[in-house]
Amino acid sequence: MKSRKILVWFRNDLRLHDNEMLVEAIAKSDSILPVYFFDPRYFENTRFETAKTGLTRARFLIESIYALRKAFQGFGGDILLIQGRPEDSILDLVERFEISEVYHHREVGPEETDISAHVEDALWKQKINLRHFIGHTLYNKEDLPFPIKDIPDIFSQFKKKTERDAIVKSCFETPKQISFVENKEWGALPGLEDLNFDDGEHITAGKDAEGGETAGLAHLEELLEQGSEIYLKNSSKVTTDSPGFSSKLSAWLALGCLSPRKVYWQFKAAENEFGGNSNFNQVLLGLLWRDYFRFMFKKHGIKFFQEPDFEQLIAAPVEEDSDLVKKWKAGETGHLLVDKYMQELNRSGFIPHAGRLIVATYLIHIIKAHWTKGAAYFEEKLTDYSAASNWGNWANVAGAGLSVGSKGAFDLEKQFKIMDVVVLY
Ligand SMILES: Cc1cc2nc3c(=O)[nH]c(=O)nc-3n(C[C@H](O)[C@H](O)[C@H](O)COP(=O)(O)OP(=O)(O)OC[C@H]3O[C@@H](n4cnc5c(N)ncnc54)[C@H](O)[C@@H]3O)c2cc1C
Repeated sequence: MKSRKILVWFRNDLRLHDNEMLVEAIAKSDSILPVYFFDPRYFENTRFETAKTGLTRARFLIESIYALRKAFQGFGGDILLIQGRPEDSILDLVERFEISEVYHHREVGPEETDISAHVEDALWKQKINLRHFIGHTLYNKEDLPFPIKDIPDIFSQFKKKTERDAIVKSCFETPKQISFVENKEWGALPGLEDLNFDDGEHITAGKDAEGGETAGLAHLEELLEQGSEIYLKNSSKVTTDSPGFSSKLSAWLALGCLSPRKVYWQFKAAENEFGGNSNFNQVLLGLLWRDYFRFMFKKHGIKFFQEPDFEQLIAAPVEEDSDLVKKWKAGETGHLLVDKYMQELNRSGFIPHAGRLIVATYLIHIIKAHWTKGAAYFEEKLTDYSAASNWGNWANVAGAGLSVGSKGAFDLEKQFKIMDVVVLY
């Protein structure tokens, strides 16, 4: 009898732990073909004259794929690496490896869902099913106390009802055994130069974290090992030197090297051991904000941050950046705190939440540039970029779109006060 082979298309789910898609593929097949596409669309320039993916994220991605490859090699297999658009080669792969079904994780950003649709169309011609999984959120959509269309647009209501009526599922087990399709050529891991970065850039840019599941799990463990010390230290006050507590888990979460459920349950275990406190609550609240933006994108699409003239705006030619915007990007506004954070962002690809709020507030409310310029710049620079979290948060700071509740929740005066304190230094 013909053996059943499933192609597992990895995207922002670069892990073996708590990966329902992988667990299902292994259970429903005789062998799997893991594949990752380095899609050139993610390495182009945007209409805002920014790069879609900057250096620190590209590097983090390569490290994450390397870690995933190593993990599969530990099971006697590998992951097929392809530089190209998935819809261009998926049919070839299906034919070459006699694939019965393709599995992947559904995304919420419009560009990502378009890519899924192209792949689905291509597969349809061969009557091959593209099965969707949803593994990016803490709460599964089926476990929410409301259908997607009725999810409250106001964060505090979403939080209250979700925490009261929904459960966080336990993690899927890491596979103990995997059978891979027969294959000899698994494809080379691209270097930064293959993704159009030049040599000079590699050397000068710093980095905040190492990509991959192994490094992510080690960071989580380290964070929790220091548990009692970190949790008991109440460092929520924001100053130039201390931006408040920051777990720095975001880049691993964004690429799916860590699952939000894994983080949640590890923190819950630490809470049982050390008792709860504000830093602990901050991480759990952060995970809820993350879910909220993803569910808002799922419910409204880009209308979530759409202003009445958004269609025209997004189609119109982008004006050249004003001198003020250029200075903001370079961290040369003359404002101590804004410059510190922008330089840090440019150098390492990471700034904490308070820093993001401050530089975004400055761009939108002081320079009075359109918020989309800032969102596009963050898209290039952030190692932890994720469409829903980035565009959702920027829209939130700008008071754009549908999120009425968050408009009220964003305290502009407070941000200015923080700035004033620092200006006086
Ligand atoms: C203008 C702006 C743009 C942003 N862009 C992104 C982005 O592209 N990607 C991203 O992951 N976060 C983004 N954030 C949210 C937040 O600033 C970062 O998630 C956080 O700073 C990451 O640091 P941490 O891991 O130490 O967070 P912690 O405070 O330790 O929180 C734990 C986790 O919760 C999630 N989280 C926390 N706050 C938020 C939030 N407000 N929205 C969504 N998720 C949250 C993150 O995954 C984070 O790792 C943005 C915020 C602003 C104001």
